[in-house]
Amino acid sequence: MSGLWDVVYMLETSPEIFVKADPESKDYVAVDGEADALLHCQDRSWPVHINVVCGRSPHLDNLFAGGIVREARICGDAELMRIAIDHIYSGGLDADFFNNEDEAYVNCVKLWDLARTLCINTMMAECLKQLVKLLQKKVVSYQHLYCNVVDVPAQYMAGLKAGVQLAYEKDIKPMKEFFVNFVEDTHFWVIEEDQFKEILAAVPKFAEDFDAKIPTLIREGDYRPYSTPISCVVCSRTALDQDNHWAMLTGDDGDTAGTCYRCWQQLDPDDSSDDDYE
Ligand SMILES: [Zn+2]
Repeated sequence: MSGLWDVVYMLETSPEIFVKADPESKDYVAVDGEADALLHCQDRSWPVHINVVCGRSPHLDNLFAGGIVREARICGDAELMRIAIDHIYSGGLDADFFNNEDEAYVNCVKLWDLARTLCINTMMAECLKQLVKLLQKKVVSYQHLYCNVVDVPAQYMAGLKAGVQLAYEKDIKPMKEFFVNFVEDTHFWVIEEDQFKEILAAVPKFAEDFDAKIPTLIREGDYRPYSTPISCVVCSRTALDQDNHWAMLTGDDGDTAGTCYRCWQQLDPDDSSDDDYE
């Protein structure tokens, strides 16, 4: 199993800074006291509290010049900025932004990039968590597709392709690693997939990155290309029932043995977490 299934990036957070967001409004979050500054992005503006936004973002702190400047303009996409402001006040990320899988991967990358610009570590960490959730689901669904020969939706790799392309274009190291982890956790079965080959053609560096992992995996006995186990060595059942999948593949010469994710969690509790798998 790769880093996709470990608890990821526990960054320092300061929850006391977060104040409750106003659920009635997507543009303005209410806190005690009047807003004392304006943030602009494209054609939208938000009243904000200097002490809140500057405390959360060193970049905004610079723009507001210690409270003397009262308006600041951020370059980029206004909807992303709206989500960033919401995060500054609430500590969360708008879940609706990640519902559509065709767009969710690229949204993760774009939001992470904005969080980097604004220097908000907690928002970067939230974006990584969202990406890991998406990729974990993709691992499970892909393993089921590969082993059960389920009909594949025509566009099922389109969203992933857009996300991989943008993460490599922007050279976002943790996200690149998670995309490589995804390939590893499909046990490389996904490499033979036509739509996945399109991703490799578009981002050759991505293929190089997971190719580089293969020698290590072979040494550790985790690499069993194109061979699928029949039943789990621990529970003797298939791993391909609902929300389960093959966590580990082992075995010598010919037969591949597998451990399902549920059993793997129990065998190695220090190396897994219920919290990062839903
Ligand atoms: Zn099992």
